[in-house]
Amino acid sequence: MKKVPYRFYLSEEDIPKKWYNLRADMKELPEPMLNPKTLKPATKEDLLPVFCEELVEQELNNEKRYYDIPKEIQDMYRIYRPSPLVRAYNLEKELETPAKIYYKFEGNNTSGSHKLNSAIAQVYYAKKQGVKSLTTETGAGQWGTALAEACSYFNVPLTVFMVKGSYNQKPFRKSVMQTFGANVIASPSKTTDVGRKILEKEPNTTGSLGCAISEAVEKAVTGDGCKYVLGSVLNQVLLHQSIIGLETKKAMDILGEYPDIIIGCAGGGSNLGGLIAPYMKDKLIGKTNPRIIAVEPKSCPTLTRGKYTYDFCDTGKMTPLAKMYTLGCEFIPSSNHAGGLRYHGMSPIISKLYYDGYMEATAVEQTEVFKAAILFAKKETILAAPESAHAIKVAIDEAIKCKETGERKTILFGLTGTGYFDLSAYSSYIEKTMTDYIPKDDELKKYFNELPKIL
Ligand SMILES: *Cc1c(COP(=O)(O)O)cnc(C)c1O
Repeated sequence: MKKVPYRFYLSEEDIPKKWYNLRADMKELPEPMLNPKTLKPATKEDLLPVFCEELVEQELNNEKRYYDIPKEIQDMYRIYRPSPLVRAYNLEKELETPAKIYYKFEGNNTSGSHKLNSAIAQVYYAKKQGVKSLTTETGAGQWGTALAEACSYFNVPLTVFMVKGSYNQKPFRKSVMQTFGANVIASPSKTTDVGRKILEKEPNTTGSLGCAISEAVEKAVTGDGCKYVLGSVLNQVLLHQSIIGLETKKAMDILGEYPDIIIGCAGGGSNLGGLIAPYMKDKLIGKTNPRIIAVEPKSCPTLTRGKYTYDFCDTGKMTPLAKMYTLGCEFIPSSNHAGGLRYHGMSPIISKLYYDGYMEATAVEQTEVFKAAILFAKKETILAAPESAHAIKVAIDEAIKCKETGERKTILFGLTGTGYFDLSAYSSYIEKTMTDYIPKDDELKKYFNELPKIL
């Protein structure tokens, strides 16, 4: 048999031209989002002030299985897609495992992550609808960067509210966004009412994601022709990210491979939802039965310790309510947590699949994650984002189990991005100042008590 190459790229003609909507094959659908005022399922009219028309259609459509990817989006995808499917021969050798390890690498673009796949789509539809400008929040900076790239490509002005702590810690993230023409504002800022109020109370605050979201939403609602965009969690984002899984499946089919285990890191669930989409389809229709594992940080254990209930998507409690696994919308991981994946909630699609037993979830400590990332860097030469390294850690664990049992399993994981802006976290691991913080049940209970009481 022909040896599988280290790096496999689909040919341009083989790149999928449709996105796949996993909801069309789910036996039971995720619960609908609720309007927080009426507690009725959110309608098209509820969502139109926030999102563009075609994105609202994608958000609410549970039936349409495939969406044609517009040519303009394909044209930008072609600049950095297909992303490579890599056989981790060197890592396998190091681990002395009989397992075959594959990873889909999404870090080959300037944003350094898979987030560009959805940013391009969201900006395209906004432009098509004549939206005058866009705004968003960014914490670590990957989403802001991806959006800045897409906005400059389609010529749409962008304002990014960047959490002040991150703004000061990662000045070069800001520079990248500015290079693409984005207006980057440290949050909380004096440019919004909510920002001014917070600054009055706490002039020295380093900000939070929740506060940055509230500023961006205020700007969108009060600005003429300005819309707010979100980089994860939403059904539309998982739809766009299905390009990851569709490319992977096509490539593995050509190579004659099918994964026994599929692993992805889970923050809001978008890369995981995208990677697993076509394989979950097989599983839902009873064709195959791969194990599917979501990996999250022990310091932000949404699936493994959260509640499956209705909650707000943001700390400011301005968004619709989503039924999802949540730690409570006021939950913020401990400040020593450097590994990303800090979001309190989880995609309603992923939440439902997990609740119904179609997938597993596991939580890992950040020192273990960085240890795995460094081993991976040494053998595969990619300096992974800390988020992505959660998947590396569990892929290595599964490969080691295969060594013990002698099973030749095929393991596939999503390598979502690169970690060049996370080097202070790598330093703290190397200098042994990094610690693990796992919230106690009592601490989580405090946030659970604040959850909206909706049956
Ligand atoms: C944002 C991000 C994640 C987590 O987001 P998901 O929506 O869960 O995919 C993971 N890896 C990288 C590199 C990211 O930038």
